[in-house]
Amino acid sequence: MTATRKPNLAGLSLAKLRTLFVEAGEKPFRAEQILKWVHQRGVLDIDLMTDISKELREKLKLTVEISLPKILQDYKSEDGSRKWIVEVASGSRVEMVFIPESGRGTLCISSQAGCSLDCSFCATGKQGFNSNLTVAEIVGQLWWANSQLGCFEGKMERRVSNVVMMGMGEPLLNFDNVMDALSIMMEDCAYGLSKRKVTISTSGVVPAIDRLKDYTDASLAISLHAPNDELRSKIMPINNKYPIKELLRSVQSYMTSLPDKRVPVIEYILIAGVNDHRQHARDLAVLLEKLPCKINLIPFNPFSLSDFRRPSSSSISNFRQILQKAGYTVTVRTTRADDIGAACGQLVGKVDDQTRRSARHRRRHAENEAKNEAKKEAKKESVKVFAGIDNLAVALDRL
Ligand code: SAH
Ligand code: SF4
Repeated sequence: MTATRKPNLAGLSLAKLRTLFVEAGEKPFRAEQILKWVHQRGVLDIDLMTDISKELREKLKLTVEISLPKILQDYKSEDGSRKWIVEVASGSRVEMVFIPESGRGTLCISSQAGCSLDCSFCATGKQGFNSNLTVAEIVGQLWWANSQLGCFEGKMERRVSNVVMMGMGEPLLNFDNVMDALSIMMEDCAYGLSKRKVTISTSGVVPAIDRLKDYTDASLAISLHAPNDELRSKIMPINNKYPIKELLRSVQSYMTSLPDKRVPVIEYILIAGVNDHRQHARDLAVLLEKLPCKINLIPFNPFSLSDFRRPSSSSISNFRQILQKAGYTVTVRTTRADDIGAACGQLVGKVDDQTRRSARHRRRHAENEAKNEAKKEAKKESVKVFAGIDNLAVALDRL
């Protein structure tokens, strides 16, 4: 017989907490009190929640738990960014990154241990997939960042003002948990983040984008990365299922469902010789003509299992100029924290892959490395032969 787990209050949205209290014959406003204790004051010990009667606290201690994932390591980058390794219940390790900038602090949060979508440029994708994070594991990353930055003790100068779901995993493939976690982040009696400052980044899970408006009004970033289906399908297998036209249609429809005027961010990784040609920029400008949007160019961040390269700064700036001349607002993402392996696409954690994809990628990479080594050796041999001949020529000259 498996023991049923007690509900974890750290992962319950306001609506779910209210239902829990009402079903237990308690007043629904207890839900707000709990959210404030846990998410605003950082208190996890029920005994310390002094505006709740002693009797109810004793009852809660028997029937619920308040638990968060564990922080295993803390890295500090030279540029002030932080990366934390978080251990989740499945035993996997995921990563989250804090990037301080003037006037704001952005936390990049993971939604899954690994990712099943296998985009060819992404370190997380090469690890395969292990598990979806729970609500408490997702929102717990924000709790931990606030705790580590001293916000629960009132140090607000380095607080998290923005959250981007751009860590490990595809947020829209862990839909229900991500939606509840976002609602806690945006809840006034919890973190109170504005909908404009919480961004879901997706590789384009169209049916999930279509459902999004019924659950959240968070901002949206789309990992597009190619201006046509042929190229996009090559680097992002999900495009075979949900091609660009359908994707842009669903994004447009989500944006128009929002009551305020907001535009999506179109993310475009620049990979040398793959999608960074001037013609790609021109095609992208035409493709996005009817979609009001901002474009964020992301120079590819290298990692060991990939042979892709980052383009030169001049081709990045050419690409940018073409889009700007076509009237787009374009930003180029500056690489932050790559000294601690925390730049976009470098997040790997430790994922016990259930899909065996990571082993396939490592094997293929090892085979390629072996081939390259063999080529290098052959080259060295021929250099030696030529060097030998050169030496011979010199020796003959001396005679
Ligand atoms: N699965 C979601 C969110 C996580 S990936 C998505 O794909 O949008 C977050 C961002 O990092 C995406 O835009 C992704 O395309 C980008 N990224 C992945 N690998 C990268 C790499 N090697 N260099 C730069 N950006 C990368
Ligand atoms: Fe998954 Fe996003 Fe990486 Fe693609 S880019 S493999 S969707 S995490």
